[in-house]
Parts: sequence; structure tokens; C-alpha cells
Amino acid sequence: MLVGIDLGTTNSLVACYKDGKVEIIPNRLEKKLTPSVVAVDDDNNILVGETAREYGYLNPERSAKVFKRSMGTDKVYELGDMKFDSEELSGFVLRSLKEDAEVYIGEKVEEAIISVPAYFNDNQRKATKRAGELAGLNVTRIINEPTASALSYGVGDSGKMERCMVFDLGGGTFDVTILEYYKNIMEVYAIAGDNFLGGEDFTHVLMEMFLRRTYLPITMLDIKSLNNVYKAAEHCKCSFSESDTAKMTVNIAGQYFEETFTIEEYEEGCKELLEKLRKPIEKSLRDAKITLDELDRIILVGGATKLSIVRNYVQKITGIVPEFCVDPDTSVVVGAALQCAMKQRDKQIEEVILTDVCPFTLGTEVVKFNGTFEESGHYLPIIERNTVIPVSRKQTVYTAYDNQKYVTVKVLQGESRLAVNNLLLGELSIDVPAGPKGREAIEITYTYDVNSLLEVEVLVVSTGLKKKVIIQNQENKISEEEAEKRFERLQYLKQNPRDDEENTLALLRANRMFEETLRPDQEKIGEAIDEFNRAMNTATRLEVENFRRKLLELLDEIENKNFTGLMA
Ligand code: AMP
Repeated sequence: MLVGIDLGTTNSLVACYKDGKVEIIPNRLEKKLTPSVVAVDDDNNILVGETAREYGYLNPERSAKVFKRSMGTDKVYELGDMKFDSEELSGFVLRSLKEDAEVYIGEKVEEAIISVPAYFNDNQRKATKRAGELAGLNVTRIINEPTASALSYGVGDSGKMERCMVFDLGGGTFDVTILEYYKNIMEVYAIAGDNFLGGEDFTHVLMEMFLRRTYLPITMLDIKSLNNVYKAAEHCKCSFSESDTAKMTVNIAGQYFEETFTIEEYEEGCKELLEKLRKPIEKSLRDAKITLDELDRIILVGGATKLSIVRNYVQKITGIVPEFCVDPDTSVVVGAALQCAMKQRDKQIEEVILTDVCPFTLGTEVVKFNGTFEESGHYLPIIERNTVIPVSRKQTVYTAYDNQKYVTVKVLQGESRLAVNNLLLGELSIDVPAGPKGREAIEITYTYDVNSLLEVEVLVVSTGLKKKVIIQNQENKISEEEAEKRFERLQYLKQNPRDDEENTLALLRANRMFEETLRPDQEKIGEAIDEFNRAMNTATRLEVENFRRKLLELLDEIENKNFTGLMA
């Protein structure tokens, strides 16, 4: 059996084509979305999905997420005393999806079509294929995510030539792709994007609006209170989908603060963010050498396009009514499953893929003034991911401290706002004349060529002193023998049994909440955990389910009371 898989940065999904329609396959917890999170528990069991995410709250050092961003690199994730690369972690997620699909379909699943971002280069595509193999899947095809979304919207169904823009605003990234469909060929014409823009930023605007209104100084709030503000803002943002006003209630150190916002106020607050959507749209059109008049459709994907202010803005600046009828969470997997159907019928869409792009953002570490003090560890992107190569970009930075005698330029690769989360490719230091901070200008030039060679040149403007390093991107190629060995090592590791998943997850959540709460809630949770543990050892399956339901009801009640109960 062949299935379509959306191996996402945050969540993954699997779907099949059955009886003339796409079916999204529920996972072992009866949910469509499986978080792309992997953890290793104390007994060295591999946890995947929601269970791994829950485990990771209390054991962050034993869990990994957003590893898709390191696909095709040699970044190593240490989970307890085990080490994995992103390919292997993705392999665990795929294995879990494969198992769920087999139970749902009732037959062996050995083949898959997996989607990847359009900007993934050959190396990253091969790594994705190998991840599939590690899960026991023969990846018969890799499909571009925007192409899959376009298929889910029926692009190509008419048989006529169509040009469309896929506008994908996810949690943390924004991608625009221009596609052309003609005679069974889907061609990626241009891609543009912003790695530092997504739904999260729209949540932060609400957080700031709330803190301004309530006069709560951000510096006075502890992590837990800030987390409560964040959760309330996220909830408030999503409720704009149903209503033009939304309430935000937050429990801060036992005191409730409440504010109501209208969609107009929110739109005004998001003005700058919305304006940032414009540049990649314009760039993609320019790179594809087409005008808006030549565009037939705009398709919206990504969770953050559920925001009406985003949809209205797209319409305002393009004059085209964007299409928003397929659930943005599922459009990619629906497209992948449609591709499965085409393959089975032997009438496939061929893809022309643009892979001559810089697949990761390349940048450096800088110090930033945060309003109160100089804060180090910030990431300054120099060549943005998705940039068509060869490319050369220059950035000027300045000395950050008085009497600084040299500047160290760290060459980093990655998408995180924090330098430490990105991959260090190399560094070089250069002498600067001592003086007051900010006086010396240093020009950093990154040049990336089609052979994945990155040349970094640093110039001290006042003295003319220059230094250069060349960094060769390591091709992540492994021999067949190595692949075989790795396959065996991973097969040997136990993945949490499917049947236990609901119980494992309930217990992990209860233990986390036990740590987060105070008496008397804590006592109630403790008693319910004991009761549930006893039931699991002695009772029948039905009784265990009853105790689990009771435990989850208690947890929901306590969570609602503490975090979101007053927001409904
Ligand atoms: P994705 O990466 O495509 O799953 O998108 C995740 C982003 O979509 C997150 O920032 C969510 O807050 C946002 N999102 C999900 N549902 C909604 C909603 N109903 N309204 C606004 N934003 C949403």
C-alpha cells in the first residue's frame, strides 16, 4: 500500500487514497496531527509525537523538535545518552506514522510519497528519502509542499495552463512559491520567504498589546506568568476566527487580568507585521518574471492564514481573492495522497524542481541593544534561506564594546533567532583599532556558490585589513554499509507500544501538572495518579479506561481554572 506523508517541522500527517477519496489517517490517539517530536525515556524507549512532546516538558534534555530544519546536515541531537541526526529522528516519526497507517488500513504499508519544502536541495531530499528507508518505507517519490497544496486545491484539474501563488504562513516561517501547471508539468518558478515571520509573531503582538493595556512591566514577570500571557494571547488570536472581538484573561500570581480587543485594534497592532508580507510576494513575482495580472490563483496554506487580517491584507495588496477552502493543516498531506492516486493510475504530474537555492540561512552572531542593556547571542542572517545561488551579500557590523581589540565573526547556519541554536560552520578573528564602541565598521561578505562553497570575507573599513575563509558544506553522503549498520541499530531500539500510548501520555501529563501546581490541586492529582497506576497493574482494560478518563477530566478542570478558564 502506498501512502502520502507530510513530514512537517512542527506536525506530521499521513493519508491514503481509498474508494475514490483521500482519507487522513488518525494516529493512535485518534488525532490527525502527530507532533514531529522525539524523546528517549529513562528506560531508553523511543517516544514519538504528543507523548514525546509531553515528556519533553519535564525532560527537555531528552527530547528533540524542529529537527527538519537540520535535515541533510551533520547536526547531532543528544537525547540522554543516545545520539541521533535529523534523518534518524525523522525516521522515528515516519515509523510511527507507518504503524498508524497499517492499523487503519489493515494491510502492510511499504511505500510512501513524502513532501518536502520547495527550497530543499538535493542533499536534503536524499536525507528525507533515507529517513523513510530507516522507517522501512520505500520512498517512491518526493513531492514539493507547495505543489502538494496546489493539487489539493485542484490546480491542474482543468487541464488548462494555470499560474498560481502558494502563500504559506506557518508558525515561524513564511514561504511564497510561484507555480505553473501546463500539460501535466508543475514547474516551480520562484520561491521567496522570510524565516523570521510567522503566526508566533502575531501572538507576540497580542502579548504586547495586553501588557501595554494592563501596565504590566514585562521585566517584572516571571517565566510562568509570561507563559500564561503567551497561552492566553495564542487562545485570543485563534478566537478571532470565530468573532470580531476577543477576550484575553491571564492569571498572574493568583490575580486575574482581563482585556477585550476588537479585530480593528488587532489589525492596527499588526500593521508592521502585515507590511512584512509584501516583500516576499513582490520578490517571488519579480523572480518568476510575471505580473499580478498573469497570476490565476492565490492559494493560502499554513495555520496563520486562518487569521482574517492576513487574508484581507493579501487581497488588498494583490487585488486577487485568495482561496481558502482546504484546511491549511491538511492541504499538503491531501496533495501527497492525491499524488499517490495519480501514481497508482499511472498518470502522474511531473515536477520541474528548482534546487539551485541556498537551503539554509547563513549568518553571524551579533550583540543587540534590548532597550536596557547590550545582549549578546543574537543571530544576524546574511544570506537568507531560499536565495537563488550563486549569491554574494554584504553586511556591516560595528564594534560592540569600548576598547575592543579584535572582532570574532562566527559563521552560522540555521533559522533560529538565537545564535546558539544554529550550527557553527567556522569562525575567524580580525584585529581592530581600539576605541569607543561603535566606531569601527567591519564589512562581512558571504559568497555562496553552486558547489555549496561558502566564502566569508571580513574587512575592517578604517584599516583596510582583510581576512578570508572558505567553508565547504559537508555533503551528507553515507556508504551502503554505514546505512545498513545504522538501520540495524535503530531497529533494535524500542518505540513505545501503540496500545500503551494513551496511558503513557495521560501519566506524563499528570506528572507534569503535579510539578506545576500547588496544594490542594497537587494532592488531588497525586491521588488520581496513584489510583490510575494501581488500576493499570490490576484492573481490566475497561476499568483502566475509566480511571484514565477520570484522571484526564481532573487535569482539564485544573488546567482550565489556572490558565484559560476565564477566557471562554
Ligand atoms: P502551521 O505551522 O502551519 O501549523 O501554523 C501554525 C500557526 O498557525 C501557529 O502560529 C498558530 O497560532 C496559527 N494558527 C492555528 N490556528 C489558528 C487560528 N484559528 N487563527 C489564527 N492562527 C492560527
